[in-house]
Amino acid sequence: MKLIFEKSIPGRDAYSLPTDLFQDIKIEDYLPEKHLDKDKKQLTEVSEVDVIRHFTKLSKFNYGVDDGLYPLGSCTMKYNPRINEKMAAISNFSQAHPFAPIEMVQGSLEIMYELNKLLCEITAMNQYTMAPASGAHGELTGNLIMRQYFIDHGEKRTKMLIPDSAHGTNPASAVMAGFEVIEIKSNENGTVDLNSLKNAMDEQTVGLMLTNPNTVGLYDKGIEDIEKIVHQKGGLLYYDGANLNASLGIIRPGDAGFDVVHLNLHKTFSTPHGGGGPGAGVIGVKDRLIPYLPTPIVDFDSTENKYFLKDIGKKSIGMVRSFWGNFSVLVKTYTWILSLGPEYLYQCSKTSIINANYVLAKLKKYYKPAYDQYCGHECTLTGREYKKYGIKTLQIAKRLMDYGYHPPTIYFPHFEPYAEETIMIEPPESEGKEVLDNFIEVMIKISQEAKDNPDLLKSAPHNTPISQTDDVMAVKRPILTYDDELELKDELNYQGKDIDYY
Ligand SMILES: *Cc1c(COP(=O)(O)O)cnc(C)c1O
Repeated sequence: MKLIFEKSIPGRDAYSLPTDLFQDIKIEDYLPEKHLDKDKKQLTEVSEVDVIRHFTKLSKFNYGVDDGLYPLGSCTMKYNPRINEKMAAISNFSQAHPFAPIEMVQGSLEIMYELNKLLCEITAMNQYTMAPASGAHGELTGNLIMRQYFIDHGEKRTKMLIPDSAHGTNPASAVMAGFEVIEIKSNENGTVDLNSLKNAMDEQTVGLMLTNPNTVGLYDKGIEDIEKIVHQKGGLLYYDGANLNASLGIIRPGDAGFDVVHLNLHKTFSTPHGGGGPGAGVIGVKDRLIPYLPTPIVDFDSTENKYFLKDIGKKSIGMVRSFWGNFSVLVKTYTWILSLGPEYLYQCSKTSIINANYVLAKLKKYYKPAYDQYCGHECTLTGREYKKYGIKTLQIAKRLMDYGYHPPTIYFPHFEPYAEETIMIEPPESEGKEVLDNFIEVMIKISQEAKDNPDLLKSAPHNTPISQTDDVMAVKRPILTYDDELELKDELNYQGKDIDYY
């Protein structure tokens, strides 16, 4: 397919201003000489229909949750009900000015106030901040809150414990907050090794960041001991609740003793994520950490019958984002929770757990699980059986694309000897049995192809708009700008070429 620049035809345009209006106006009279671009060769000349067709075609190359199963383990990609979008698009919400006087945005504030109450009930926490714009941003906020807590209590704690199975953002956030990260090894069950935790936890340690069910999809049954070990040394427990798909109405992190919780509203709470839009990595805390939350939070004045923005006070870590967070995501979450109600929130988690265990049970003969036990909302299989046919997990994932599926998460988590060549599948509650059956059938077919015809996998994908690319070069030397002097037919053949555009 040609790039839009290559479709340019001199003299074509998509929109023209009435020339007589501008005949006396010379751009040179208004712009300083140095800002004038006299060399116009870069401008693309296309008509409106050229533009529409070009981008419509491109959009059809894409694959999303509205096309089919998107089994991306650890990152919950599920169908997002349209009612959420409809509510978020109501102009009173979407057009509200962030500087509008609070009397004019009482409805928006009420939603934030009520959503806080719902999230507190779902997770057994005492107060949320809606400010952070992503999971990683929430983690940083949570870490800064913990740091502030210890500074305020005159304690010098500098180390953060993080299991080796944790999402990569956990150590990154802890380091950004100024902590030293100590890795805690997983045991043969894929969960936290209690002895390693006991040895590492001391009075210089801030606490532990834990995901549960963890990132191999397993529920850590040692949670009661973990809680004791961390709290006995005065530490704090941080819960990475980016995915709550296995927990709604089943367990509440606050009940398990967690002090700080982050939720990705853009995963479990039904907002598209990834390239799909803005996120919200809201942070919930227990009472003793409320004074350190980012300021302000929404509160309700019952004598005046009015919602208002309450300053957290001097101990607050300050603001972490402009204005009040990604408000549209909050409206979608609020809509989703209310449209399901407690009974169906529970059903949602139950269904995702059943879905994941169904896939695990059907595929474990073909793709050896990293850990052979029941899983939460996602299962971790491996492609290590196929190494003897010269097949890597990456090639299995590419071949899946030929059958019209988005590949699952691969090589994450990745720690030997248990979890290598991993394939992490999350079939969320929005998928029916027939969808899963078809996916399972395809996975089994690919396992047979790996033995009978490994070359088919090695050269995959074959049916996608773009066939196999050079992964290394695509990362090392991606061409991100257009240069008409670069010969595009040589685009994938970088050898001997000196390309300045990255
Ligand atoms: C997705 C995810 C994160 C990070 O969230 P972002 O919004 O992508 O920054 C953190 N932890 C876990 C377990 C996740 O799955």
